[in-house]
Amino acid sequence: MKTTHREDWRVIITIAPRYTRIPISALGFTGLDSDLDGTLAGDPFEVAIAPRQLGDFGYVSMGDRLVSDDVDGDYRRRCEAMLAELLRQPHVRSGRVAVTETHTCSQCDLGWEELTAAEAADHSTNQDEHSVEGEPVCCEDAINEFRRERGIPVLTSAGGAK
Ligand SMILES: [Zn+2]
Repeated sequence: MKTTHREDWRVIITIAPRYTRIPISALGFTGLDSDLDGTLAGDPFEVAIAPRQLGDFGYVSMGDRLVSDDVDGDYRRRCEAMLAELLRQPHVRSGRVAVTETHTCSQCDLGWEELTAAEAADHSTNQDEHSVEGEPVCCEDAINEFRRERGIPVLTSAGGAK
């Protein structure tokens, strides 16, 4: 079956430099002589912010799964809380929570792909006449699992259903 992996959670915000005077110390340029300090200029730009790891408590750090039963949900909630807080800042114009999703097959670990309606109807791309839209394409185990759930005749091990 299709397994979804989520990683690289981030909060993406758009900052409008001219809206308020943002000191360059906000970018980490600290310790400059006050005469050489300045404020950000230019057009609005996007910044991606990675949240703190769930298991990072500052004094000790451990794997996400050791500290959470719902890693994706906890990252999502953490990112949404960050975003809500950041949007209260006057120079933050807009923002969103983003994550990278990859879909793989739990049987063979290959990337998950499904037949489109057109591919399922096309004999050059489908498995046999029982193929339907949404049928996986990676391996026989996944195809037959999909078919059993829907009461569709499974493939024979020879490669085609007869
Ligand atoms: Zn597979």
